[in-house]
Amino acid sequence: MHIDKYEEAMMNCRFCFMCRHLSTIGQVRCTEVDTPRIRAAMLYGLRTGTNSFDDSDFVDALYRQELSACCTHHCVNHYDENGLALAARADVVEAGKAPAAVVKLMEKFSKSVNWSASGKGDVAWFLDETTAEDAAVVAAAKKLFAAAKVSPKTIVGGSIGKVFKVLGYLPEAKVAAVRFAEFLKAEGVKTLVVSNPAAYDALTKDYPEFGVKLPCKVLCISSFLLQAKVKFAKKAGELYYLADDFMRNYDGCECPEKLLKALGAVNRPFGTNDEESYCCGEGAVVLDKLNLPLVKALAEYVAERADDPKKDKIVVLSAYTKKYLKKYGKLDVVTMEELAAACL
Ligand code: SF4
Repeated sequence: MHIDKYEEAMMNCRFCFMCRHLSTIGQVRCTEVDTPRIRAAMLYGLRTGTNSFDDSDFVDALYRQELSACCTHHCVNHYDENGLALAARADVVEAGKAPAAVVKLMEKFSKSVNWSASGKGDVAWFLDETTAEDAAVVAAAKKLFAAAKVSPKTIVGGSIGKVFKVLGYLPEAKVAAVRFAEFLKAEGVKTLVVSNPAAYDALTKDYPEFGVKLPCKVLCISSFLLQAKVKFAKKAGELYYLADDFMRNYDGCECPEKLLKALGAVNRPFGTNDEESYCCGEGAVVLDKLNLPLVKALAEYVAERADDPKKDKIVVLSAYTKKYLKKYGKLDVVTMEELAAACL
């Protein structure tokens, strides 16, 4: 089984409650089942015969996780309970026990594994579907490319594999990765700039795991702006940057913090600690499509922790997180692109 690769996490987490305060779903639902300890214990139960994927409550709990990787990142031993959860979903799918909503979502996304490019040159910007929905972020990114004196090809289209991996469909994720790598090669892309942290993580971590080699280097938008030495005339001032699930917990990328420094931002600590995930289930990529009330609860949980919800300027990396913090948290949120463009 896929979970066997995460033996350390399964054997250790099932006796540990150290990171329960970082279990985002457990916090908003006040449920032990939504903590790494109980998930690991339930998965261990597959071995002892005390649990099975026929139990729909168990499977639902696996698909309810926000996958922020917060607990893994802050665990003193970095036991990969997040990887264990992803592996468990792959086992659920292989056992043919995926919930009907997951199967339906998979079928929908399978139809969108296509991309198109407009523009010229060997620098490209991947404008994923989530970011493309936010006109303000798209306009800000275009301003930034102009300031960097780069006119990138724009690549638009559907899933490049991340959503399949997150839902537990690993062969389909690999097929999408192979196809996207071939597409980039055919387009002659040598540098790919990515706004969406989930897409960045797919390209820089999932693809190597699948053995898929890209023909180009991949830059997050923060890294691109730093490397392009874009000049910023105004200072960003006081703000609250909410650390990104993928960039901090999955990838350990510090480019966003470096860009904030270059923008003259005074980053104030948000909430009661700087360890929690405040990204509304960004790591689960499509949690909004599987369980919107849960995403609403996550956004409200974040809003309750704001010092001054009406006035605080909050910065995030993903258009997904911005969407739900604004919609349900009623917070003043911009993405890094919008913040940087406002500083030009
Ligand atoms: S991830 Fe670390 S802190 Fe969290 S339950 Fe597992 S062993 Fe404990």
